[in-house]
Amino acid sequence: MPRIYLSPPDISALDHSSVSAVLTSNWVAPVGPHLNEFESGVAGRSGTKHAVALNSGTAALHLALKVLGVGAGDKVICPSLTFAASANPICYLGAEPIFVDSEPRTWNMDPTLLEQALEQEEGISAVIVVHLYGQCAEMDAILELCQRYKVPLIEDAAEALGASYRGRPAGSMGELSFFSFNGNKIITTSAGGMLVSDDEKLIKEAEYLATQAREPVAHYEHKAIGYNYRMSNVLAGLGISQLADLDRRIAVRRAHFEAYGESFSDLSGVVMMPISEEADPNYWLTCLTIDPEVAGTDRNKVIAALGDAGIEARPIWKPLHMQPVFEHSRAYGGACAERLYEHGMCLPSGSSLSEVDREEVIAIVRSCF
Ligand SMILES: *Cc1c(COP(=O)(O)O)cnc(C)c1O
Repeated sequence: MPRIYLSPPDISALDHSSVSAVLTSNWVAPVGPHLNEFESGVAGRSGTKHAVALNSGTAALHLALKVLGVGAGDKVICPSLTFAASANPICYLGAEPIFVDSEPRTWNMDPTLLEQALEQEEGISAVIVVHLYGQCAEMDAILELCQRYKVPLIEDAAEALGASYRGRPAGSMGELSFFSFNGNKIITTSAGGMLVSDDEKLIKEAEYLATQAREPVAHYEHKAIGYNYRMSNVLAGLGISQLADLDRRIAVRRAHFEAYGESFSDLSGVVMMPISEEADPNYWLTCLTIDPEVAGTDRNKVIAALGDAGIEARPIWKPLHMQPVFEHSRAYGGACAERLYEHGMCLPSGSSLSEVDREEVIAIVRSCF
């Protein structure tokens, strides 16, 4: 077991008292006043009008696709360089994912290849854009394309709560957007997610489906197949106190990114994840690439050296077009994501990471060069 994790939960005395207050109130169910408060908080923070708290980000994406009418035989565009949960819900609905490569400026979906996919594919029902590692994709170009081709856009902002693009919050730019509060994300409810939108009808429909599609009558009437996807009110209590700490967390994670960047600036072959001019990231994880031709070491050796010292470091997400489960899916491009996966890694970046521990990580990375 590592001593220093990539992104562990950061729990304070305020979280203890917030959860304890929920227990005292006896609202121990997937309904209650803390859910409403947490939903308004996240809607406010993401610049959206409506929100529904769910038991995971994956459930949020599933419902987003469902309320947009995605079904069997449809196609949905998704970036290749992301976590599998960005694509799995497409398959839950019997639809087909079409993968699009990254561009090197932000590591997110390449608008040029997105245009190719929109031009060539028939029956695209939605586009999912991911703001990887807390930095927004090139949204101006992506939004323009989705408007031009009249395809709804879903933002997978699971990793990007608190980030923004040209001053617009992550989560405010798509038809629907979602956040994750899994244990490793910038704020956590242990497990949890939130679907947000300016469209009240879509959020109401998602909330209805998330609560077993129960009609508002006493005798259990059902006209649709529902899900049990709502967040517990107890966990919403944790979400409220975590959200109140978001700005501090972004500042700490940013300080990690900057300290790592300065400490590695003299190491040849090391390139930090680029930050684009338009993006104001939340610095969820510090990522970098190591070019073995220049560095005299490689990503795997650095991860192994950190592992020997009890420090968790991980490769960049393995692209979905390379995953066995998606081997028959179509993909536009792929070389950029493949190169990032081959040479890229993430370093411990948690908001509870101490400076002493960060210095140890830096010393071990440097010792590999
Ligand atoms: C964490 C994550 C998800 C899934 O969120 P869960 O709450 O774990 O279901 C989806 N997309 C991305 C990019 C993620 O990092």
